[in-house]
Amino acid sequence: MLIGGIEAGGTKFVCAVGDEVGNIISKTTFPTSDPETTLAKVKHFFSHHDITALGVGSFGPVDLTKESPTYGFILNTPKTQWKHYNLLGQLQNDHAVPITLDTDVNAAALGEHKYGNAKDVKSVLYITVGTGIGAGFVQDGKTYIGKSHPEMGHIFVQKRENDSFAGNCPYHGACLEGIASGPALEKRYGKKADLLTDNPEVWELEADYLAQAIINYMLILSPEKIILGGGVMKQTQLYPLVRKKVIQLANGYVDTKNIENFIVAPQLNDEQGIKGAIALTIGSNI
Ligand code: ADP
Ligand code: ZN
Repeated sequence: MLIGGIEAGGTKFVCAVGDEVGNIISKTTFPTSDPETTLAKVKHFFSHHDITALGVGSFGPVDLTKESPTYGFILNTPKTQWKHYNLLGQLQNDHAVPITLDTDVNAAALGEHKYGNAKDVKSVLYITVGTGIGAGFVQDGKTYIGKSHPEMGHIFVQKRENDSFAGNCPYHGACLEGIASGPALEKRYGKKADLLTDNPEVWELEADYLAQAIINYMLILSPEKIILGGGVMKQTQLYPLVRKKVIQLANGYVDTKNIENFIVAPQLNDEQGIKGAIALTIGSNI
């Protein structure tokens, strides 16, 4: 049985065909442009494959309220061409198979849960720290959506006194995404984040903000595992820094034993999103 998957990102789209045990048979990647051009490329890719279902992990915000008249639409994105775009409607028009839509981060969480570093647990939180910050949550093999979907990247953390950067979230200024995403680092320090490797103070502050967010997520969701992915986490020195700060913030109240196996990197080499998108068609949401 061949299943299609789409990782619909704000920067790039990944389309793949795979099976129900995590093998990818064919895959293509292209930059995200305007919706019409991008969806035409998607249609072209799948026209060569006889798929039985299609799973989509989309950037957001996306309307996931099934009863909503705009179910499956992209909502308030700064990417103006995509604002209020009927993503699901266009896909249904182009592909005559059942389509399961979820967030990109829920797909990534599911991918790691089924095939990666969270195979051994029932609940996992997957956080991406990239162009934006977002998180997806899987419990018992099902993704959590809620009313529409959580926006865990936009929570508020305590700004440190030595940080004068006002934040760059267009909605909240100094929310977590506004002070700790890749573009926030670039704006605060005037250099792309990957060129800041040798500045330890950058990563101390970044780890502080991520750890503050993580302790809040732990207190609210109590996940058995936290996976930290996304471009900024290519700075692997962040992992021990974040773990240390999480232990400090937990202060013995919540369990931080065995933290090396609790806060971890993804295992699927940037295929967690696309493998998870394919896997979305197998289970259903909470
Ligand atoms: P997206 O979030 O667009 O799907 P990524 O997860 O790759 O894509 O995140 C892109 C962001 O990550 C950019 O802001 C980029 O500057 C940052 N980034 C990419 N590689 C690195 C790196 N090695 N070190 C620090 N930041 C990085
Ligand atoms: Zn925000």
